[in-house]
Amino acid sequence: MTIIDGKQISASIKEAVAAQVATFPEKYGRVPHLTVIRVGEDPASVVYVRNKAKACEDCGIRNTTIVLPEETTEEALLEQIQTLNADASVDGILVQLPLPRHISEARVIETIAREKDVDGFHPLHVAGLWQKTPHMSPCTPSGIMKLLEAIGIDPKGKRAVVIGRSNIVGLPVAKMLLDANATVTLCHTRTVNLPEVTRQAEILIVAAGRAKMVGADMVADGAVVIDVGMDRDPETGQLCGDVDFDAVAPKASAITPVPGGVGPMTIACLMENTVECFLRHVSC
Ligand code: NAD
Repeated sequence: MTIIDGKQISASIKEAVAAQVATFPEKYGRVPHLTVIRVGEDPASVVYVRNKAKACEDCGIRNTTIVLPEETTEEALLEQIQTLNADASVDGILVQLPLPRHISEARVIETIAREKDVDGFHPLHVAGLWQKTPHMSPCTPSGIMKLLEAIGIDPKGKRAVVIGRSNIVGLPVAKMLLDANATVTLCHTRTVNLPEVTRQAEILIVAAGRAKMVGADMVADGAVVIDVGMDRDPETGQLCGDVDFDAVAPKASAITPVPGGVGPMTIACLMENTVECFLRHVSC
């Protein structure tokens, strides 16, 4: 059984990004610039935004973090985004989700200029993913596909089951697996007899946001298990995934830990996306 080392795989992606970025000052006179906006003090968001800033530092990417108070109005946030859209020194814009409830995430996402949307959440990028036209790929699903590739798993012809149908993880990763020629089943809260479905999986992707919901009885012998969850264990309060790692690992052929699996890959892919936005920006 392989414990998939997302930390190490992401570190090599970031090293490659750093080497590429190091050549930019001579070629283009500057480095990429990512601006991250955080609204409010959600503790998980504080950590995610800090980790993104640290990754930028590691890669030689310029980072600006803008912190707005919880009571910021939607209008004020949209104005801030429009200012950044118009700022030629900014290549990428990321608004950390979730946002306070009085702000529409959909309006925020569609206000970010498509060419600066490093998250790949803009409706035109989503359309590009589903229509196979050029688009920015969302970071977490891309990170999952890169993990599979790194451990030599080709989804072609395999039965893949995804738990979760969110716009940011479940749906796009299902589409990417489909494009990689897997036979894909997408499960959700209304799926009947979930364990029976997940036991069919040769590749099981879990993105439900429910601590340790996947036990050994839900996993086939030899399955590759990718745990996207970032949850709190209700008993210990510790960070854990959607998969009961200790119970499932002995059955799996490969499994991601939490932390140290998908999370660092998301950030590495964000660095790659920032470089992609930069290269398009400097060439237009
Ligand atoms: P979400 O709440 O938007 O979606 C959860 C999905 O799971 C829904 O489609 C729901 O139908 C399904 N679901 C929930 N409970 C279920 C159950 N008992 N049975 C079957 N389906 C069920 O969540 P999300 O934004 O997709 O995130 C999912 C998890 O992944 C969360 O823990 C989140 O923190 C984590 N996450 C991690 C990263 C990362 O970089 N590691 C990135 C994004 C999200």
